[in-house]
Amino acid sequence: MAILERIQASDHEQLLFTHDRDTGLRAIIAVHNTTRGPGLGGIRIREYDSEADAVDDVLRLSQAMSYKNACAGLDFGGAKAVILAPLPADRRAAFLAMGRIVEGLAGRYVATEDMGMTEADIAVLNEVTAFAVGRSRDAGGSGDPSPHTALGVFVGMRATARTAGLGDDMRGLSVAVQGCGKVGLGLIARLIDAGARVIAADTDAAGVAAARDLGADIVATDQILAVEADVLAPCAVGGVLNEATIPTLRCRAVAGGANNQLATEADADRLAARGIVYAPDFVINAGGVINVGDELAPGGYSPERVRDRVLAIEQTLAQILAESRQSRQSTAGIAVIRAQRLLGNG
Ligand code: NAD
Repeated sequence: MAILERIQASDHEQLLFTHDRDTGLRAIIAVHNTTRGPGLGGIRIREYDSEADAVDDVLRLSQAMSYKNACAGLDFGGAKAVILAPLPADRRAAFLAMGRIVEGLAGRYVATEDMGMTEADIAVLNEVTAFAVGRSRDAGGSGDPSPHTALGVFVGMRATARTAGLGDDMRGLSVAVQGCGKVGLGLIARLIDAGARVIAADTDAAGVAAARDLGADIVATDQILAVEADVLAPCAVGGVLNEATIPTLRCRAVAGGANNQLATEADADRLAARGIVYAPDFVINAGGVINVGDELAPGGYSPERVRDRVLAIEQTLAQILAESRQSRQSTAGIAVIRAQRLLGNG
């Protein structure tokens, strides 16, 4: 399909291909929807096999940001940028160039951190544009988003467990956590604190050691998805819920922080057919974007407002899960319909 047709088919507003002559920086920015406000989404630095793959990725990710931001009740639309790796050797010059490109969009796109970036890169962007958020707390920003993501996953998991008939609180429940990184460890700490039993796995020894220190039982990474547990929490990579893994799951619910957990849309129906309640990833993992977006709130960043909004994920998910039961559509399908309604399309 030709590119303009692709943009139209996915209902994007804008797709910008850009090259900086001085540094050699090459980037693509997709603005999906600005009905609710500026398109907020990260800049991903990644090596792609082809330009077509980069376009696919940025279009998919920017649409997902519209859905995530809408379901979180934020006054932001969705957008995303990819920088085609390798990043130019002069990192500072590359981010200054990227900042000028973002500034040129005059607020239609608000950039934040994604794979391959750091808070320090955001500070460089801010030297040339105000339309970048996610600086460190020391630099006057909202700081590390992952504790907020972990809190959102924890309260969202409570709503999911309740819907799956597992009771009102996490005490006594078993939770299998795949990935003991920033989000996974934050979640494990909260679960242990709430009296749950945690089984965890990570490909990295440091993650495993940290999870063990928190009180988790450790299993091998190739066992974690099929471990017997009340809830499975994918907190590592995308695509883990697929045609091969879903028949092997031994849990009643899936509620985790990873992005793009479902390999395909059909996997939402596969989970439903097995009676497994799935918390749509872009709803349950919105804590981080809620935190970062608050930097642009009138009056400035407010930790109390962020906390209230993150806690509200429990209620939002409960509504989505209830609607899914009533309509017999998958939870992921209902979440997309809800997002589209909030974007004025339905
Ligand atoms: P992270 O890099 O800190 O942690 C990921 C962990 O997963 C690492 O410890 C890594 O070793 C481990 N891992 C990778 N592959 C694995 C595998 N096959 N099996 C087991 N462990 C594996 O990242 P993070 O910030 O904790 O994010 C985790 C997930 O949540 C990602 O999908 C990310 O996109 C998503 N997410 C994060 C945030 C946030 O605020 N950080 C917000 C929304 C979504």
